[in-house]
Amino acid sequence: MDLGLRGKVALVAAASRGLGRAVAEELAAEGASLVMCARGKEALDEACEAVRNESGVDVVGVPADVSRPEDVTRLVREAIDRFSRIDILVTNAGGPPSGLFESLGPEKWDEAIRVTLLSTVNLCRAVLPGMKQRRWGRIINITSITVKQPVDGLMLSNSLRAGVTGFARTLANEVATAGITVNNIIPGYTRTQRVEDLAKAVSEREGISIALAMKKWEAEIPMRRLGEPREFAAVAAFLASERASYITGTSIQVDGGWIRSLF
Ligand code: NAD
Repeated sequence: MDLGLRGKVALVAAASRGLGRAVAEELAAEGASLVMCARGKEALDEACEAVRNESGVDVVGVPADVSRPEDVTRLVREAIDRFSRIDILVTNAGGPPSGLFESLGPEKWDEAIRVTLLSTVNLCRAVLPGMKQRRWGRIINITSITVKQPVDGLMLSNSLRAGVTGFARTLANEVATAGITVNNIIPGYTRTQRVEDLAKAVSEREGISIALAMKKWEAEIPMRRLGEPREFAAVAAFLASERASYITGTSIQVDGGWIRSLF
């Protein structure tokens, strides 16, 4: 299937490693030009160079913290200066810290709102005028299984990703007639640094080994294994494509069957 991504310009946030990087690699493999961001310049430069060498497409790295509105403005301005437009936006950021309600003070909530919810809102606000003008756009938000089945100990993620999902569903309706789709992809337990960090937190909280924490997750997954970032990224490439033109307002789970609900 030709996804029709050659010549499109994609901005992938938080892309120096993990899911964001896998999405960047997949879009580049399909011929899209890329703008990648992350906070640390060194890891970002390394990731951009690897993607560029592997795919041969144009890749620009912009160090930016997506929880800071001024960084988002600069990121999008630099992307447009370089490529004149952004066709595809993939919103992403590091996951909020795990923790039970009593361990999370007001500063932790403020920070999580900025990182998880407002980064998505601000990135969308910055790219939408151009997409509307060209009457074509794809917005893809990386959320979490927590939006369909909250995970114990992930109070901040459970709370704020629901906000992102409500935002995206509402935005999808508002921009549908402008040729712009807005969808979320729900990762299950996928082999990245984030999952290793979460396993460490569980091991400390429950007094079990990190290996046992991982094994317990695998036991909950019908496929009995963690996902690979590439398996997630394939869905992002499809949703970003011309071929996904009638899909909007959805959340698609890539979780090996972990979510047990019907919808
Ligand atoms: P990761 O920790 O492996 O990678 C996170 C990336 O985001 C890194 O490149 C990091 O530099 C960048 N980043 C972090 N904060 C940033 C910020 N404020 N501004 C710019 N860049 C920033 O995480 P991951 O596994 O790739 O997860 C990506 C998202 O998906 C996270 O929000 C995570 O909570 C969520 N998620 C992951 C899983 C999983 O199993 N991996 C499951 C559900 C949800």
